[in-house]
Order: sequence, then structure tokens, then C-alpha cells
Amino acid sequence: MKFGSMLKDISQALVQQPATEQYPSVRRPVPERLRGRLVWNPATCTGCGLCATDCPAKAIELLVLDKKAKRFVMTYHIDRCTFCAQCVQSCRQGCLNMAANHWELAAFDRDDFLLRWQSAPESG
Ligand code: SF4
Ligand code: SF4
Repeated sequence: MKFGSMLKDISQALVQQPATEQYPSVRRPVPERLRGRLVWNPATCTGCGLCATDCPAKAIELLVLDKKAKRFVMTYHIDRCTFCAQCVQSCRQGCLNMAANHWELAAFDRDDFLLRWQSAPESG
């Protein structure tokens, strides 16, 4: 490298803003359609199991405790999920979505990659 062009690069670097971002102290807005981890809304879930059957990564397990009373347990293995959104497409009831605000998923403990949800038992 020529001395002149090196000086030019150095002077440019001194006046330019850094290219790196100061994450996590500075956070950019999350894109609206970003695929974060799954969120399950059991209110309209029928327990059909399509989400679990269609998941190519076997990241969803559905346990049907009582189909009539709509009592289900869904286990979601975040560390197996490829964020393909196939389960979201497969669910005809619109119970699943990939939450844009749940994207910071790093963890020290493996147990943190396991989410278990239980539908509330119907009253009456
Ligand atoms: S996003 Fe894809 S890999 Fe993740 S749980 Fe849904 S179907 Fe499975
Ligand atoms: S596909 Fe939808 S309705 Fe069927 S078990 Fe999964 S979340 Fe429930």
C-alpha cells in the first residue's frame, strides 16, 4: 500500500462514524416480519396436531389431555426450530405466530430452550 493512500484511509477513519453498532445498549427497531420464537394462542386450538406433524425439525410436541375439554400441552424446542414458519402456515386456526419481539434467544442454560405451554381448562 502506498503511503499516500494509507494516510487517506487513516484520515477517513478518524472522521467517519464507526460501522459497528453499540448493541445491546443501542437497539434498532425490529423488522415487523422478523421471525422470532413461536407464540401459541390456545384459545382456538383444536388439538389437531398438524403443527407438530408438519414441523420438519420435530420442534413441537403436542400432548392432548382431553380433546373435548380442549386441554392440551404444547412443548416447543427452540433449539431445534429452524424458524421456517411451516407450523404457522399449517395451523388452520391461526393459533401460532412467530413473535417479532422474541428474537433474543441466546441462553447459558439448555433448559431455557424448552418452552411448555398448557391450555387453560374450560370452565363449567
Ligand atoms: S418454525 Fe419450522 S422448525 Fe420451528 S417449530 Fe415451526 S415448523 Fe418447526
Ligand atoms: S395446528 Fe393449530 S389447531 Fe392444530 S394443534 Fe397445532 S396449534 Fe392447535
